[in-house]
Amino acid sequence: MSLSIIGNWKSNGSLESNKSWIHDFKYSINDPEISNVAICPPFTYLDQMISLTSNLGLSIGSQDIDSSSGARTGSISINACKDIGCCFSIVGHSERREIFGESNMYLRQKLITAQESGFQVIFCIGEPKEQQLAGTTNNFLEKQIIESLSDLELLDGFTIAYEPIWAIGTGKIPDIKDINATHKFIKDIVQSSSKNNFTPNVLYGGSVTSKNAEVLFKEKYIDGALIGGASLNGKEFAEIANIFKNRGF
Ligand code: PEP
Repeated sequence: MSLSIIGNWKSNGSLESNKSWIHDFKYSINDPEISNVAICPPFTYLDQMISLTSNLGLSIGSQDIDSSSGARTGSISINACKDIGCCFSIVGHSERREIFGESNMYLRQKLITAQESGFQVIFCIGEPKEQQLAGTTNNFLEKQIIESLSDLELLDGFTIAYEPIWAIGTGKIPDIKDINATHKFIKDIVQSSSKNNFTPNVLYGGSVTSKNAEVLFKEKYIDGALIGGASLNGKEFAEIANIFKNRGF
């Protein structure tokens, strides 16, 4: 399954506000036959959101998964997610890397476990501001890719989310042509380093809203978006999905 527009709610939502979100989304989405749009609510709301979206095409994923199961207090395994009907997970978000200390090697293990379980992954990479200023973005991204993915057989649906850390939640985004060129670079590196020469879809993440979505989605190598803040509003998120649907190619 190829997912193009994914909302990352982070640690937000409530039983009540999730219902209003669905209401707003439902009445704002133009095409009720959506199949490539997804939301990642916190773990505790996965079950509720799966029930609330059962008659919508919206997919529900988790924001993270553990690399294993069993004696790992506080963690959520892939099988637990699959069990309730969750079909994919974000892995390697920069907040997991920064706040929870997740390294490229640790994320590689999560990816291997997910691949073994046939569980789809949206794998996040992205450079900090210092790398962007130093002009070393590509070197940084290449290291993230090689250390986490090299020589793995990537499953259909495996997707990269390119999220420059300095663009997340700041209202700043890189030059659109630079994003497009970076996506092409990412596709080439994943293709040449994965065992099965897999070319992934690459989503852009970092301050995407309904205001900048149209210009982003016109670019050849931008296959969609991972959206944080703007996904918390059902109407705004539906608007971005509508813009993607009408992007014209
Ligand atoms: C994110 O955290 O994945 C993200 C892209 O956030 P925002 O859209 O708020 O920049």
